[in-house]
Amino acid sequence: MTADPECIFCRIVAGEIPADVVHESATTLAFRDLMPQAPTHVLVIPRSHYPNAAALATGEPATAAHLFDAAREIAADEGLENGYRLVFNTGADAHQTVFHVHMHLLGGRSMDWPPG
Ligand code: 5GP
Ligand code: ZN
Repeated sequence: MTADPECIFCRIVAGEIPADVVHESATTLAFRDLMPQAPTHVLVIPRSHYPNAAALATGEPATAAHLFDAAREIAADEGLENGYRLVFNTGADAHQTVFHVHMHLLGGRSMDWPPG
């Protein structure tokens, strides 16, 4: 497992920074976003440090799939029968601010398309 001591999400994985954890597996962790953009806003991350989704898919393809398994279970737990959105912001244009890959799971309200 890879970790970056400067990375805020690695520090959450290590238990050094508290988080409202909603789901855990051997390879993934999911916790509520500090600044929720929807009634349900959960970040699903690999325990290992990868900067973006493509790097995770190359380095740990099984873990990439585990993110989607976790999202399905969290959506069911949160009662998101009407739907939800999964987002990987990747790079500056997409407004990625934390460079430890994370899946945003957003739900609990009707959403617009296209996103801003
Ligand atoms: P990005 O803009 O990189 O796609 O998303 C980063 C997300 O991480 C943002 O939605 C932001 O609110 C969230 N975030 C940043 N720092 C923390 C933190 O320390 N704890 C939690 N729970 N969320 C955080
Ligand atoms: Zn990290």
